[in-house]
Amino acid sequence: MTQKLKIAIQKSGRLQEQSIKLLRECGFSFSGGFSKLKAEVDNFPAEILFLRDDDIPQYIEDNVADIGIIGENVFIEKQKAGDLILKLGFAKCRLSIAIPKSEEYNDSSTLNNKKIATSYPIIVQEFLNKEGVNAEIHEISGSVEIAPGIGLADAVCDIVSTGSTLLTNGLKEVETILKSEAILIASKNLESEKQELLDQLVFRINAVNAAKNNKYLLLNAPNDAIEEITKVLPGMKSPTVTPLQEEGWSSLHSVVNENDFWQKIDELKSLGAQGILVIPIEKMIL
Ligand code: ATP
Ligand code: ZN
Repeated sequence: MTQKLKIAIQKSGRLQEQSIKLLRECGFSFSGGFSKLKAEVDNFPAEILFLRDDDIPQYIEDNVADIGIIGENVFIEKQKAGDLILKLGFAKCRLSIAIPKSEEYNDSSTLNNKKIATSYPIIVQEFLNKEGVNAEIHEISGSVEIAPGIGLADAVCDIVSTGSTLLTNGLKEVETILKSEAILIASKNLESEKQELLDQLVFRINAVNAAKNNKYLLLNAPNDAIEEITKVLPGMKSPTVTPLQEEGWSSLHSVVNENDFWQKIDELKSLGAQGILVIPIEKMIL
């Protein structure tokens, strides 16, 4: 019997939609109806388990699931056996310490003898140890940001993305203790057949993410500018150059990374490029 790769994703919450989207972009076809516990993938030997994200590290340690998608913050906090395979680039957030706006803050020593409310006691304790700070950790599971307002704690440590939740609760961010994003994790010592399936999935995720981070670029340029333009646009190997009907001009095709995209466009224009077209890439195999 062929083995199936068991993939755990969040049942409901912030990671669910993008986890499903990523697996679909990798070509996995599976039915919706996520009130179910699991779904079979029709065109790949895999099955998807819908679980509470906080439980996924334990399932990975116990080999109930082979791989999973969770926030790096949860993976670190749970301290369960498993390997970080790949950072996925979504659900970016940070774990930060915040105190009431009116309080003064100099450095981490300000937290000495304070009470910090958090759902991440392990990560917070590690931070306090590293900083040599002696503070009391009060573990609570939800609505951490209201703790100072109701006199439960002097400070909080919670997930922040924009900071607006902190602001509306009269808090200010004073320390970032961890940066997090969604990650792919795997059980340690997967059987070789499952490891191969994981390798195939990782290959597909890399192709999907490389495509997202890059754009296909077409432009026209005078022939005497091609050499300089090629230095700006190395592409996957080197740009494709084809002559235009008009004497002395060529069309160049290449790939540019999202990060330095606008800077490259400016350079290309100043080198004489015209008629620049930018096209999204669906998959990119390196
Ligand atoms: P519960 O398990 O009770 O549903 P949770 O906080 O674990 O709550 P979500 O709120 O769905 O679940 O968050 C899941 C993960 O998404 C978090 O562990 C974190 O990695 C990431 N995350 C949380 N809040 C944000 C945010 N505001 N922006 C981006 N990513 C976030
Ligand atoms: Zn959760």
